[in-house]
Amino acid sequence: MHAKMTSSAVLQPALSLVLEALRDIRDSREKPLRVSRTTLNRLLESRPNHNAFDIAAKAASLGKVRDRVCICTKCPHLARSRTQTVFGVGNPDAELMFVGEAPGADEDARGEPFVGRAGQLLTRIIETMGLSRDEVYIANILKCRPDMPKGALGNRPPTPEEMQTCIGYLIEQIEIIQPRVVVALGATAVEGLLGARGVMRELRGKWHSYHDTPLMITYHPSYLLRNQSPSEKRKVWEDMMAVLEKLERPISERQRNYFR
Ligand code: SF4
Repeated sequence: MHAKMTSSAVLQPALSLVLEALRDIRDSREKPLRVSRTTLNRLLESRPNHNAFDIAAKAASLGKVRDRVCICTKCPHLARSRTQTVFGVGNPDAELMFVGEAPGADEDARGEPFVGRAGQLLTRIIETMGLSRDEVYIANILKCRPDMPKGALGNRPPTPEEMQTCIGYLIEQIEIIQPRVVVALGATAVEGLLGARGVMRELRGKWHSYHDTPLMITYHPSYLLRNQSPSEKRKVWEDMMAVLEKLERPISERQRNYFR
């Protein structure tokens, strides 16, 4: 009888949380969190202390932040110009989190970060690491696309004021997900996370810390698209191998010899 009561006392709130998370995902106008069955199984095996209850609780908490972001008008000019906000995508219990700059035109149209050419390159980097987009979490410093003059092509970086206004949402995402490693992609991500602007070639490739979470700084994939030299690609790959080592993931000989 006691066992039955205990089990029901534990299961009922867990069930409520899962239902709440599913409701949030159903009602959201943004891309849902995606976790494949294979990824979920790997995750449960690799993080034995994290059960489905923890993951559902994180998904529910992220859903609540996403709901606030969806209707945010703290930057009225961006709220007016955006197609939609771009919250983040991936595993709510990810060990590894990538942080970029801001949505571009493709992301603004799709509601998902890193889906344009730079995003496709990031996806290739993640897959070459032996991971998938579903397994990691990807977000930006800014949740709205920085506005552009009428008729202008391309994207612009966010201003310090815009970053300052939006950074709280990313901080909440990191606090909920609690990744083991954060990767900052490019100088804007570094400025948003560490509050300081530096020279990328001096910052990258070294371990920094974001509130006690190891932070690796590397080049933004769009930099690699502009600079196709194998030596720059190799630098990013070395940074990613350092990340794999920090996560205690195996690195194959083939992976070690990339770009050599
Ligand atoms: S950029 Fe961030 S703070 Fe500004 S309106 Fe968009 S969601 Fe709100």
